[in-house]
Amino acid sequence: MFKETLSLFRQTISGPAALQDLAGIIAHHRIQSSPGFRQAAHFCLERLRDAGIAAQVLSFPGDGVTTYWDYPMPQEWSARAAVLRLVAPEKEAGVLADYREERIALVQRSMATPPDGLEAEVVVLEEGVEESEYEGLDLTGKVVLARGEVERVRELALARGAVGILFDGMREAPPVRPLLSLEARQYTSFWWESTAEAVPRRCFGFVLSPQQGERLRRLAWAEAREGRALRVHATVDASSYAGHVEVVEGSIPGETSEEVWLMAHLCHPQPSANDNASGSAVLLEVARTIAGLLESGRLPRPRRGLRFLLVPEMTGTYAYLATHEDLIPQVVAALNLDMVGEDQGKCGSCLLLTGAPLSAPSVSDDLLALILEAVAGESKDLAGEEGYPIFRWAPAAFSGGSDHYILTDPTVGIPCPMLLQWPDRFYHTSADTIDKVDPAMLAHVGVAAATYLWWFATAGPREARWLGQHLVTAAEIALARMRRAWLDELAGREPTPSPEELAGALAALQGRLGLRVEHRLASLQWLPRLAGEALPGLEGWATEVRAAGEREMARARAGLADLFGLDEILAAPERPRDVWEERAAGMVPRRVHRGPVNPQHRRSRLSPEDQAAWREWMKKAGHFSAAPLLAVYWTDGRRTLLEIADRVEQECGRRDVEALVRYYELLEKMGLVEMENR
Ligand SMILES: [Zn+2]
Repeated sequence: MFKETLSLFRQTISGPAALQDLAGIIAHHRIQSSPGFRQAAHFCLERLRDAGIAAQVLSFPGDGVTTYWDYPMPQEWSARAAVLRLVAPEKEAGVLADYREERIALVQRSMATPPDGLEAEVVVLEEGVEESEYEGLDLTGKVVLARGEVERVRELALARGAVGILFDGMREAPPVRPLLSLEARQYTSFWWESTAEAVPRRCFGFVLSPQQGERLRRLAWAEAREGRALRVHATVDASSYAGHVEVVEGSIPGETSEEVWLMAHLCHPQPSANDNASGSAVLLEVARTIAGLLESGRLPRPRRGLRFLLVPEMTGTYAYLATHEDLIPQVVAALNLDMVGEDQGKCGSCLLLTGAPLSAPSVSDDLLALILEAVAGESKDLAGEEGYPIFRWAPAAFSGGSDHYILTDPTVGIPCPMLLQWPDRFYHTSADTIDKVDPAMLAHVGVAAATYLWWFATAGPREARWLGQHLVTAAEIALARMRRAWLDELAGREPTPSPEELAGALAALQGRLGLRVEHRLASLQWLPRLAGEALPGLEGWATEVRAAGEREMARARAGLADLFGLDEILAAPERPRDVWEERAAGMVPRRVHRGPVNPQHRRSRLSPEDQAAWREWMKKAGHFSAAPLLAVYWTDGRRTLLEIADRVEQECGRRDVEALVRYYELLEKMGLVEMENR
């Protein structure tokens, strides 16, 4: 159903051509809302126009005041020069960081120093994120060296009079990036809050490699024994002002008003080759290839239009969607490309197909999985029969962190899987350079993305029927796998579970299978829309999916009875609700704007006590992973918070009702949800 277009794209999409565009993009320092981003946007605009595609750069206010769906636009920021020198001890004096050499050497959105710069004593901290580290310290006029989260360091250090921050942290990314394994600087930025809110005090900051930091720490220790301190001289020429946020938009019209979107974020500091010049360059190559094939008549005018969007991550997507709400119902599918060009050997990465959450039914993930299977299976064994992958790829559960999480939100409702390589040894560091990009990988992803776009742009009744049949098989396989993994886990458990535990496990499985059957049934509803007509097979497919759910439950029961020698599985014992569940059962949260909530921008609406509670929550959120986001997606103004907690547990296996209640209470205080108490 797509093999012919796939092989056409395989012949026409060029990895080396995409790499040339990538080289053009990384010539720019692409901080969102900055002159560098604007230059990159215009470079991409010209590439689209060269290909004969109708394209424009849309401009939105970058003023720190305007919000789109409650998401604040950053003030524009521009840096011209920044140098950090060690000046004492004199024998070790020298340049530690120079913005002209490495843009990542400056904490992005840093403030300026006085024109001649300033000299300051360095106070060495560890993480610098706990109050206790600052006890008894007077930081007036000094700078701190710390490895912890730079926003928290800023908050604590500036409150005690510090004037700047030297950051020498590096996020570990096991197993590909263990501690201290990479000599590079980590991409670090001061966050922005709407200037309509209370604005936190600002300062300048420099980024050092962990190795540079280690050297300074030792030096500071040696100097301290002699009663002396390290001193640095810092000059930063930078400014923040009301400016603009740009989105590059290109489109190829179809025969109807329906559309398919391809998007990628164009932002990030120079060079950020894989993140995300790679996704942007693949987007340009896909657009150019399709336009060329249309022009030469090798592809017909599609039924649905194609839209290409290059955005500053999150910001641009919020701005674009909020100002194009009329388009949203017309979009049948989208695809987000983020970090796709990795040389897998160098980066240690795997190409992940990040699917939709269960709250957002779609057929897009299944189609993209089929396409990737075909792209990866183009190599044949020696007998010329079986295809096998020559690059790593895998389907992955939904996670946020890029623009797809806005489109996919049920309040927006655009199915948008993401292709992303993870982990990446060089992620968010100065070492994410063009030599880490594999042009063959750019081509693989380009072929997959183009095939996906074209399939959705042209799908009609026959394609919808084909995908419907496939969805039934995919559902059967997924449900069988879930039951098998569940049984494997119980079979291996020590000590042997009691009959009551087994009954509880069976009830939990029923919930998890049930939610997935519900999701598949809702997903099937996309098919008549693709077909443009009623599908007689639809009811039959739904029946098969329901039957698959029942079959797996019967197998689960039989498997338990066989493995544990039980004559019958008891019904799960009724468990009384605890106080938090009782509370959650009386709360019905309602969302107040479209798109995911962004509490980090609204912290300043909380009292100091609540801000402390928020920090505690954020620490706890680590163990809770994607659960808060999944919960927000399930929030539809009708479900109680307890029903939401149940669904989150069925979806991702995590349950912490107390944490969810406290989280939603904070969201309510920030004005991000309204709560009906029953
Ligand atoms: Zn990215």
